[in-house]
Amino acid sequence: MNSRPRLYYCDHYRIPLPPGHKFPIEKYAMLRALLNANGAYDLTPAPFAPPADLELAHDPAYVQSILQGTVDARVMRRIGFPWSPELVRRTLASVGGTLAAARDAMQCGFGGNLAGGTHHAFRDEGSGFCVFNDLAVAILTLRRDGLAARAAVLDLDVHQGDGTAAIFESDPAVLTISLHGEHNFPFRKQRSRIDIALSDGTSDTEYLDRLEQVLPQLIFYKPDIILYQSGVDGLACDRLGRLALTPDGLRMRDQMVAEAAAGIPLVVTLGGGYGDPIEVTAAAHAATFLTFLTRHQGPATFDPIPAS
Ligand SMILES: [Zn+2]
Repeated sequence: MNSRPRLYYCDHYRIPLPPGHKFPIEKYAMLRALLNANGAYDLTPAPFAPPADLELAHDPAYVQSILQGTVDARVMRRIGFPWSPELVRRTLASVGGTLAAARDAMQCGFGGNLAGGTHHAFRDEGSGFCVFNDLAVAILTLRRDGLAARAAVLDLDVHQGDGTAAIFESDPAVLTISLHGEHNFPFRKQRSRIDIALSDGTSDTEYLDRLEQVLPQLIFYKPDIILYQSGVDGLACDRLGRLALTPDGLRMRDQMVAEAAAGIPLVVTLGGGYGDPIEVTAAAHAATFLTFLTRHQGPATFDPIPAS
């Protein structure tokens, strides 16, 4: 019997990318290898999200155009990946991982996906390396299935969660919170319920102060579930981040989220991270998942987290 908490992965579906493409595809396998070596989590291949679930958050014509490969070249340019059957499989597993993690969270308090957090995908079009919005699909699927009525998205990726904000803009049962770089992509921001815009070069102290101010609002909302988009592209070494956070600052960030959200089902998804070197990014993602280990409410038979 396996009592370790579960994380879903989909890096075994490899997307063919042209040489020099800036998407850091290798970090996903690196992250899984790090967590596999740690041994605290049960790593499970993510199931595919059913098209009917995708269509709760997305225009059915857009969903079908992606699945069938008839999607407009202009839309694929905005997404930033060439279309391929492998991209479809990986995308379905990335969303499916968050869906499965959300069900785990409703059952045992915690769920995690080593992918997803694809917050730039809008209802009828993807963008910025995001095809479908796994956060929105998971929330609307839980709602349809009667598992969670109120949801909150805490998006700490350095880029605004514009797709998520737009999808839920007029939905009072979803609280969207985004802390992001004011001068970073997307340059046309959408309206989250709470937006915190940070200046270039923001340090740990200022970042954690802003986070501390916003967390009580998250709890006050009394969500049935929190989806945490845990992008680590705020690291100083990130090629696209423009902030100046340290690995310790990110650990503090995750600790604060874990403490604030104690007692509320929580899903951790991945998010951006484009560090140079990319190993630093992969290690920061791994540290996030290890911080949330204590959330698992089952019997604690796994080894304690090694000190770092
Ligand atoms: Zn990002």
